[in-house]
Amino acid sequence: MDKSTKISLERASQLKSRIEDYVDIRKEIPKGLELKEEINSRKEHILRVLDGTEENWNDYKWQLSNRITNVDTLSKILKLTEKEIEQIREVEDKFRWAISPYYLSLIDPKDIADPIKLMSIPSFIELEDEQHDLDPMGEEFTNPAGSITRRYPDRLIINVTNECAMYCRHCQRRRNIGQQDCHQSRAVLKESIDYVRENEEIRDVLITGGDPLTLSDNMLEWIISELRKIPHVDYIRLGTRTLVTMPQRITDEFCEMIKKYHPIYINTHFNHPMEITEETKVACEKLANSGVPLGNQAVLLNGVNNDKFIMRCLNHELLKIRVKPYYIFHSKHVKGTKHFNTSVDDGMEIMEYLRGYTSGMAIPTYIINAPKGKGKTPLLPQYLISKGTDYIMIRTWEGEVIKVEDTPAIDIKALIEETIGEDIALREVAQTIQ
Ligand SMILES: *Cc1c(COP(=O)(O)O)cnc(C)c1O
Repeated sequence: MDKSTKISLERASQLKSRIEDYVDIRKEIPKGLELKEEINSRKEHILRVLDGTEENWNDYKWQLSNRITNVDTLSKILKLTEKEIEQIREVEDKFRWAISPYYLSLIDPKDIADPIKLMSIPSFIELEDEQHDLDPMGEEFTNPAGSITRRYPDRLIINVTNECAMYCRHCQRRRNIGQQDCHQSRAVLKESIDYVRENEEIRDVLITGGDPLTLSDNMLEWIISELRKIPHVDYIRLGTRTLVTMPQRITDEFCEMIKKYHPIYINTHFNHPMEITEETKVACEKLANSGVPLGNQAVLLNGVNNDKFIMRCLNHELLKIRVKPYYIFHSKHVKGTKHFNTSVDDGMEIMEYLRGYTSGMAIPTYIINAPKGKGKTPLLPQYLISKGTDYIMIRTWEGEVIKVEDTPAIDIKALIEETIGEDIALREVAQTIQ
């Protein structure tokens, strides 16, 4: 064996050992794409309880109007204890809940701390949070017109509804959820669109809520087409969790409608590999085939995904269904959600074990929101250790510290003038002599 092959083989074996732990652990992480049979038998059970058919199940209107919103029905599906029933009743007076039959089928009823359950079924811990604020982002003070939230120079949010297919227990806008579903009126939406039209620096509009995909295709088309008429709007983004909680919403008709208004981007919100199922895969593929780039905005949640391996696995599962990991948000201090908060340490460890260990494609940006709506702020482990006038010290993903030469950029224009300039002068002299 020649020397270079020997060195390469040694390095390959070292790299293999760097990922051994993950290769074992990933097999144990529950994944929606692998647990098809379990999900399917839970679906059959839910259909029996709700007296629905396969056709109903695949119809998002049925999913939306059959959201489970009372403990009696829930306990027929999940077998809750007396204590749990009592606690849900207590919480629901303060913080509303609803869950689509589809999303409910992802819960493993045998696991008391099931991550899907944590995200969707009310917990008594929500009431034990007295200190947190309902609006830590001060969204109330960033609303210049209509239902807009404007926190940045060139882009803004239009909130079109407070309705969702499922009310996340970690919702940062739970103050808007209230006890009733309510789409914004056409007048408020018109005022929001007028604001975009009158402010030419706004080049990126995000339609969100609530979940904008609880609106009808007609209503969405009206909003999108009005925004499209504004020449300074470069593209439109939709923020929706229906891809995760009610994938049946992505119908062929919706895709045909959306295609007419490109560039359209959709960002969604998967938090756990169990949420990535055959049905979400179909929905994401439909959108991707309709030319919509898909991004994911996960939230770092205690007990759900604050683990370097679960998060790596999530990002891999996302890329399989053509969704690019975009952000991991550090959870905010919103009243009723304290139990989901983690330390920044958890996020930093996740980031540390992504770079190098996996594809750059699978690495989102970790973001903490500065309080009072002062903006998204990226957090990253340190890779630049120190720097001098002609060098930097960097740390590699494996933790090796290396000195790298670093000198200022040269004045390229001056250099060209200096070398070619003489030539040009000579040529000019030659031409005059001729
Ligand atoms: C998050 C957010 C945006 C979009 O931010 P990007 O970093 O461009 O994705 C825009 N407006 C508001 C108010 C936001 O909270």
